[in-house]
Amino acid sequence: PGLSVAVPQRCLSAGPDAPSCWEHRVVLLGDPGVGKTSLANAFAGIQERDLLEQHGEAAYERTLLVDGEETTLLVLDTWEPERRGEESWRRSQCLQVGNAYVIVYSITDRSSFESASELRIHLRRARQAEDIPIILVGNKSDLVRCREVSIEEGRACAVVFDCKFIETSAALQHNVDELFEGVVRQLRLRREGKES
Ligand code: GDP
Repeated sequence: PGLSVAVPQRCLSAGPDAPSCWEHRVVLLGDPGVGKTSLANAFAGIQERDLLEQHGEAAYERTLLVDGEETTLLVLDTWEPERRGEESWRRSQCLQVGNAYVIVYSITDRSSFESASELRIHLRRARQAEDIPIILVGNKSDLVRCREVSIEEGRACAVVFDCKFIETSAALQHNVDELFEGVVRQLRLRREGKES
């Protein structure tokens, strides 16, 4: 079966011939409504008015200058909710193709925070021996009055997950660049670890 969204096939080829710029596939995971698409759009610099044209596009590319070095990230927003308790081909594909993962919950939705733990477990199962960068993201930090998950809980969860943590607001573009710069730094640390 093929992907029903517009993810270029070359983005999914992970073999040794894959262009190096595609070695940085970042997959967004998280419950529906937590703000994955909004974060991807904020990352890619897509404005609301452009969104109609972009409809259906699920891969976002941008080159970031981090610590004086350029890195191109390809952000994939292809995660879908589980249907009738069945693991779909698309879900397992998402868990396989990422070089880094961003697990998103909404600070206004405790059940999405609980789902984040399940996603961490799924990921660990799917990529057992691999040391893949994971960033836990509490999005919608602008909605202070609706907060259900404290920043301390988010941090504590990241310690258990053994991953990085950041709170963002896709709506206000707050910490979105910091999030993806963090992804780049995590990828580089792993690369340097392999080279030495
Ligand atoms: P997805 O299903 O995870 O891709 O979530 P979306 O990106 O479609 O966002 C779901 C809803 O939350 C939309 O109405 C967004 O406008 C809203 N949203 C996303 N991020 C934020 C945020 O940081 N702050 C606020 N206030 N709303 C947000």
